[in-house]
Amino acid sequence: MPSAKSKAKKPSKTTLQRTRKQLERQRQEILDLYQHDLAEGQRAHDEGGADDLVDRANNAYNREFMLALSGSERDLLRDIDAALERVDAATYGECQHCATRIPAARLKAVPWARYCVVCQEQVEQGIFLETD
Ligand SMILES: [Zn+2]
Repeated sequence: MPSAKSKAKKPSKTTLQRTRKQLERQRQEILDLYQHDLAEGQRAHDEGGADDLVDRANNAYNREFMLALSGSERDLLRDIDAALERVDAATYGECQHCATRIPAARLKAVPWARYCVVCQEQVEQGIFLETD
């Protein structure tokens, strides 16, 4: 059922193509970074034989940090993949919660944005849960 909101201007094909390229490039950058982190993590693991307690604490801290970093990279990858799916499904640029068109400026800053600013704030405040 078309609503008044769907009359809002959809992104042009050119914009979508540019967005897709940008998303794919960012995806690759994260993958490269992720591979780098894996290598670093392995190195930290290999160096874990040190007897010194401080060194051991530092290694543990670094591993925690690395895991956290990898986690946020995984989240971002998931967001980028979801955005690419929305480009294919021609729903890119629509808020996944209220279906309002996300302003171009926001999409430029956060090309994988799922929500408009209003809904994003609600997600961050835990007012509604993100849908996967
Ligand atoms: Zn919204």
